[in-house]
Amino acid sequence: MHLNDEEARLEALHRLNLLDTDPSESFDRITRMASQIFGLPIAAVSLTDRDRQWFKSRVGITHFSIPRHKAPCAEVAETTNTVLIPDLHASSCYRNSILAEQGIRFYAGASLTTRDGHGLGALCVLGTEPREATDDEMNALSDLAGMVMAQIELQHAFGRLDPLSGLPNRNQFLDDLADLGHERPGEQRLVTLIDLAPHEQLSDGMRVIGAIYLEQIVMDAARVLCAKLGPGRTVYHVAATQFAFLAPAGAHEVEYLSYIREESLHSRGTSGNRFAPTASIGVAPFITGETPPATVLRTAHTAALEARAHSSLVSFYSPSADSTHQRRFRILNDFNDALNDDEQLSLAFQPRMDLVTGECVGAEALLRWQHPELGSISPAEFMPVIEQTSLIGPTTKWVLDAALAQLAKWRAAGVELQLSINISAVNLHDRDFAQQVQLHLFRHHVRPEWVELEVTESAVMGNVANAMLQLGTLVEVGVHVAIDDFGTGHSSLAYLQQLPGSVLKIDRTFMRDISQGERERTLVRSMISLAHDLSYRVVAEGVETADAVDLLIGMGCDEAQGFFFGRPMAADAFNAWLDALSVKIAGLTRAA
Ligand code: C2E
Ligand code: MG
Ligand code: MG
Repeated sequence: MHLNDEEARLEALHRLNLLDTDPSESFDRITRMASQIFGLPIAAVSLTDRDRQWFKSRVGITHFSIPRHKAPCAEVAETTNTVLIPDLHASSCYRNSILAEQGIRFYAGASLTTRDGHGLGALCVLGTEPREATDDEMNALSDLAGMVMAQIELQHAFGRLDPLSGLPNRNQFLDDLADLGHERPGEQRLVTLIDLAPHEQLSDGMRVIGAIYLEQIVMDAARVLCAKLGPGRTVYHVAATQFAFLAPAGAHEVEYLSYIREESLHSRGTSGNRFAPTASIGVAPFITGETPPATVLRTAHTAALEARAHSSLVSFYSPSADSTHQRRFRILNDFNDALNDDEQLSLAFQPRMDLVTGECVGAEALLRWQHPELGSISPAEFMPVIEQTSLIGPTTKWVLDAALAQLAKWRAAGVELQLSINISAVNLHDRDFAQQVQLHLFRHHVRPEWVELEVTESAVMGNVANAMLQLGTLVEVGVHVAIDDFGTGHSSLAYLQQLPGSVLKIDRTFMRDISQGERERTLVRSMISLAHDLSYRVVAEGVETADAVDLLIGMGCDEAQGFFFGRPMAADAFNAWLDALSVKIAGLTRAA
């Protein structure tokens, strides 16, 4: 057998994903029939792998495979001929084979041949006595081998066709792309992916009309697409509500995009269905044999997501939008590792200053992530991603643990700081959040009044009843609560009045403009006076200049935090900063 033929044969075999799969009654039934027809105790569906015969089905054999070398089934696979050996001892070829050594004398095998003519192996019967075989027996063996092949094809198609639309599915799409890469490598082609409807629309439709709604939409789309593409071109059903197809070879990007847009607008306009879905379409370029098939699908999908995000019908793949998606995905994927790796996460501490005494009265703990490949990633980038997942619980626990451990150290060393810890909106949805915080305090021997939790206004508004309950419980035991980033969310004065918080942090965006004009100053002055009227202590965030400090003191602001005083620092650097500050204050006191 030619070497290339053997490689193609092996590829055909491997592509069926049959090797090393579990036994199945549909094959065993045929094997038993073969054994009965010959009246022999041993029969098998034997597949010829690179160096072994592996049995998909076996009767009278205990092992799963034998070496390929000198196995008669390998001859069947290589030649695709039926092989009959009345007595192995009399055969020059097989006299010394493993089978002969194990006492096998008779062998008959019929080829398992694919439509493309590749021999996968044999349906074989074996006996321990030499014997002849009649034509009827051999014909029956060939028929049974045909049944084995039908079964193999059926099983294979089962994983390749979508049961609803009957169209080839994602697996088939990926395989066909790989084949195209082999047959016509280096061609620039375009792939189109149609996403039938946004999730909300589908679930609304299903609620009103029932599950049939989705089936109807999918079937309609499949029918329309197949009719539009015509014979000779394939529509793939790549996910429940997504279809993909290739543009004809040589299609020009710009012309193709406008063609797709017009065709889709036309279909939309002619749809009589009141609940017609709003499809979004992504088109992506790729190079056959170079772009991995999974990437082809992913880029087209990204483009469809982009179309959906911008409410446009069709979108062409953009690498920059893709890299944003990929980075978010990477963050999500890798953050779990970070939580379990002491090298990646750490806390930085930023000083908070009393504007009257000039002393450092507290610090805010800020999470830092040093990704092993992407480098430092800002919490402003990763927290919003993490907050949408269940990882937020363990993340806040990690921060509480690390922050309270550091606070315990400071307090033990006589440093009388209050530590502020940021918590996320979703943490307040937990029914036992207050209890968890108390457990952490207890474990680290930290008094509740040494700790302040920073929450944003929107955090509280998300789930008012539970948030109030959790915060109320914490305030009762003595923990302080601060409203973070005040002025940026949908501020609600009503909530501000009810909130158990005692500190209000004015967002740093207001500090940027404070030196610029009277209007900006009036805004900050009003926020401070309003907060004071509601008995809040006021902290200005993001204070970067001496000018801003003077203005804030003039407005009666209580505390400030910002690069002007100190950047967020690792604990050691923070200690050094504190030492330097006390020397400065001591110097000022002496001078006075
Ligand atoms: P935030 O709680 O409002 O924290 C203050 C942010 O302002 C910090 O950004 C800090 O580095 C920055 N900042 C402080 N002073 C100045 C200044 O003078 N100028 C400027 N331009 N910026 C200043 P960072 O550390 O990047 O954190 C961003 C946000 O990420 C935080 O805003 C907070 O919402 C969130 N975050 C950080 N750590 C955690 C955490 O442990 N848990 C939760 N849930 N969120 C966190
Ligand atoms: Mg904060
Ligand atoms: Mg803030």
